[in-house]
Amino acid sequence: MRAVDIIAKKRDGLALTPEEINFFVQGFTRGEIADYQVSAWAMAVYLRGMNEEETVALTLAMALSGQVLDLSSVAPRVFDKHSSGGVGDKTTLVVAPLVASLGLPIGKLSGRGLGFSGGTLDKLESIPGFRADLSKEEFLAQLQKHGIVVSGQSQDLAPADGKLYGLRDVTATVGSLPLIASSIMSKKIASGAQVIVLDVKVGRGAFMKTEADGTALAELMVKVGHDIGRQVAAVISDMNQPLGNAVGNALEVIEAIETLKGRGPADFTEHCIEVATQLLLLAGAKDADDAQVTLRTALADGRALRKFGDWIEAQGGARRVVDDYSVLPRATIVEDVTAPRDGFVAGIDAEEVGLTAVDLGGGRAKKGDRVDYAVGIVFKHKIGDRVARGEPLVTVHANDRTKFGAAKERLLAAYTFSSSEPTPPPLIHRVIRHGE
Ligand code: URA
Repeated sequence: MRAVDIIAKKRDGLALTPEEINFFVQGFTRGEIADYQVSAWAMAVYLRGMNEEETVALTLAMALSGQVLDLSSVAPRVFDKHSSGGVGDKTTLVVAPLVASLGLPIGKLSGRGLGFSGGTLDKLESIPGFRADLSKEEFLAQLQKHGIVVSGQSQDLAPADGKLYGLRDVTATVGSLPLIASSIMSKKIASGAQVIVLDVKVGRGAFMKTEADGTALAELMVKVGHDIGRQVAAVISDMNQPLGNAVGNALEVIEAIETLKGRGPADFTEHCIEVATQLLLLAGAKDADDAQVTLRTALADGRALRKFGDWIEAQGGARRVVDDYSVLPRATIVEDVTAPRDGFVAGIDAEEVGLTAVDLGGGRAKKGDRVDYAVGIVFKHKIGDRVARGEPLVTVHANDRTKFGAAKERLLAAYTFSSSEPTPPPLIHRVIRHGE
């Protein structure tokens, strides 16, 4: 078998066999297939797609490219949540400690920023000292001791996804249903969680632009999960405008901590409660209302915040970030962009917002780029808000005057206004469970 023939076959729109997919995945994991060939193949998959059998084969090949954790020695059931990627999506930073504070063990592999979407690991690494490169032994030990661990792919776990993810980010091949489904589910299989809630984003700031595409991705992942014996539910949630108010790594950490203190933006708080509710339901909660009361109590009495502190400290991060945001990197330029007219905010192009954050330095333009954790955007007005001309719309945090100017232009163009009050998009579109 030769890599070039497999690339050509997919380029021509033919289905690959499991053997071909295994050969390709093993080859690039071992470094025997060059990055430029993997990139060409990813583009062929992006343009030609994959059928369900190919997607399952790709998922399993990537999951088996490293070790598959057996977590049964730590807990009979380990829980996980995973987002398909969005703008301002810091849900893990709240949901993981929230449900862990209720005794559900959370063991999770996360990713870095991808295209316009931010990455949980980049956000966490903005906390001084935080380590996301845990070995298998460290992952298991922390899960056992603290009941919560979030790590990146190491050499040990789903290394093929780690490699492919980095290449997709910089070759415009992210928004592909089979590549996203296999990326997410391979990590889920490798990290061993038995119960998984997938947060599938749909809209302008998501890889799946329509509810139909998001539903197809969710159904595919729920099916793959079920086929390999995991309990999986998917929440289809809106990403037509940024989630919460903050976009940018350290800024999102602050917003997540504020949410754990009960002072977060309403949309983000409700979103976290919904995702956490699905985890509690899979854990056996009586019903959604009951789960929500339990979750709101753990937020209100400080349990979730304490768990966040334990988690950050256990992974080497500065626990004092909980009370002192000045330990986080701060931008040198912090200035508002004001509304150009009176009216209502009718839309905020979340993809443009994500790209603006990347251009400010908050994400990567090419593989290996250094991320500026301090930069980003804080929204003061979102869809449905009435604004007056000259009133601050957003605050931009930048470390470069030219980049600030470009971000300002781009953000103004990302906003649309109307004279009549628009209806904000729903936060949650639907929930998908196996067999429903
Ligand atoms: N999250 C992942 O882990 N992989 C993707 O491809 C997209 C989002």
